[in-house]
Amino acid sequence: MQKEVLIAGAGVIGCLLGKSLKKKNISFKILEKNPQPFKNPSRTVALTSDSIRFLNTVDSKLDLNAWATPVNSMNLFQDAAQALSLDSDQEKISSICALDDLHEKLLNDLNDDISWDTAINSMNNDKLIEVSTSNGNYSGKIIIASDGTSSKIRELSGCNVEEWFYGQKAHVCLVKCQHNNEARQYFSNFGTLALLPLNIEDEEHYSIILCTNITSDPKTQLEHLNEKYNLSFDLTDVNFGDGFELKHSRATKLYENNVILCGDAANTFHPMAGQGLNLGIGDVMFINDNLDDILNLNQPTLDRYSKERSMRNLQMTWIIQSLYGAFGNANELGSLLLKSGMGMLDKMPVVKQKIIDFANRN
Ligand SMILES: Cc1cc2nc3c(=O)[nH]c(=O)nc-3n(C[C@H](O)[C@H](O)[C@H](O)COP(=O)(O)OP(=O)(O)OC[C@H]3O[C@@H](n4cnc5c(N)ncnc54)[C@H](O)[C@@H]3O)c2cc1C
Repeated sequence: MQKEVLIAGAGVIGCLLGKSLKKKNISFKILEKNPQPFKNPSRTVALTSDSIRFLNTVDSKLDLNAWATPVNSMNLFQDAAQALSLDSDQEKISSICALDDLHEKLLNDLNDDISWDTAINSMNNDKLIEVSTSNGNYSGKIIIASDGTSSKIRELSGCNVEEWFYGQKAHVCLVKCQHNNEARQYFSNFGTLALLPLNIEDEEHYSIILCTNITSDPKTQLEHLNEKYNLSFDLTDVNFGDGFELKHSRATKLYENNVILCGDAANTFHPMAGQGLNLGIGDVMFINDNLDDILNLNQPTLDRYSKERSMRNLQMTWIIQSLYGAFGNANELGSLLLKSGMGMLDKMPVVKQKIIDFANRN
């Protein structure tokens, strides 16, 4: 089967790419290795205002502002002590939704465009891309790799990738709790604990993301933090499952011949800054805005894609690494310096607004 564009992977990024191509009447096929959408009801994402604007433009039926939970303030804690409080007079600072809900809404209208149970195994990328899958052969003018952090297409195309492991896992769960639309992030030597407000059928919950050492038992760790930070969560029914091993990966160039990398296949982040999906949506926004050039493999545009997106991703990597290094390893003196630095920042509303604006751009 020949299409103009092949998309590897039907995750959120692959589906969003499909939606934006469909709107422009470009023929495409999404090839997905799983037989059906992968579900994890406890997985949530914080969406920036850029992401919400773009998602609503690509599909007005998504209407994210109607159902995603707004975050009106974000408080950062160094251990139990509040270090920085971010809020904005101008608008909410982000919106939280369940990843499955967003995925399900994006899959609407795409069913005929996805070939499920179709793992890409090999690829020939001369003038035309030809891939052989567990479900037959497909060809296209270009292939967009949105097949996630361990991208097969990235490997087959020979794109160079830098990666390192944090020795941590992210564990997610939901607890019923009043949240007042406040998000919290606790940093300490154990790792990070993020609490994101999420309304599920009018009931308030916190979505918990605990990033901690691979060897720690997450439930015991959370019970300890629950007491230490006076959170008063009822953790009786919490079951964390396996968790997600955390790694950072970065392709040094985001295209190779007629292969273009996008989303986690291009860059994968520690979830501490809640930016991985948003930056992937930023990749799709670039492709959408420059589609004719991308389809014609215009070299200056592909170079610009690679440079601009890599620059944004490097900025975010630098922020994440600084937070990780500063908070994760703070000894007594370091901890004091950090506290006074954060205290100063907390008294600077203009700088705080700039942080919020930066975090809301993709
Ligand atoms: C705990 C946690 C919390 C997070 N919180 C946030 C947040 O608050 N905000 C935020 O912006 N981001 C967040 N992220 C990051 C975000 O979830 C990811 O960046 C995003 O979901 C990646 O989407 P994707 O479509 O690029 O990749 P994926 O969702 O991994 O999709 C890739 C798809 O490709 C398919 N595939 C793989 N190999 C093949 C193959 N060979 N052939 C065919 N198909 C294949 C897979 O089955 C999968 O369906 C978080 C991540 C974690 C782990």
